[in-house]
Amino acid sequence: GGGPLKRIHMLDRLLRESASIALSGSNIQSSFEFPENLWPALIDEGQMQQVVLHLVRNAREAMPEGGIVTIRAENIRIMKGENPALKEGAYVEWSVEDHGKGIPEEDRSRIFDPYFTTKSFGNIKGKGLGLAICHSIIKKHEGLITYSTEIGRGTRFTVYIPASIEEK
Ligand code: ADP
Ligand code: MG
Repeated sequence: GGGPLKRIHMLDRLLRESASIALSGSNIQSSFEFPENLWPALIDEGQMQQVVLHLVRNAREAMPEGGIVTIRAENIRIMKGENPALKEGAYVEWSVEDHGKGIPEEDRSRIFDPYFTTKSFGNIKGKGLGLAICHSIIKKHEGLITYSTEIGRGTRFTVYIPASIEEK
């Protein structure tokens, strides 16, 4: 499904705009760390916006007392055999980091499962679909979504998207 992929040269702009939407009206500050010339990537803009919205909303929900969400992007090259989940090549790597409660060990194997949620019922956002949707969108882009988390310190979700650059 989905429409055709669309070339975009401004993943950093998409990150900035989508994060602002996800954080609007909240007590959360955002901090952006982007290089001057982020590589372009071939993406479906509407779908990638959904990924950013889901990840930043999760970060927001992990910090009910407020705090800061840091959004980073980088140009990276993955060498052959470096990461078994990625082909070698050029990627845009971007991440969303919070300083929330972290993800308990017993939940970690299930967070990408559809309908897995630890958020209270009655909350219209707590459907447990956000990360499952992110995973499927990133897979369609031949990318990867991973995370690292520490209890009481926070969580960082990292996304790799193939960059659309001339290989020499
Ligand atoms: P939902 O947000 O509706 O619960 P998601 O698929 O977005 O569903 O997330 C699934 C679960 O993963 C959450 O309920 C939560 O337990 C955990 N989770 C996701 N992101 C974070 C985060 N940034 N910090 C802590 N826990 C998280
Ligand atoms: Mg969510």
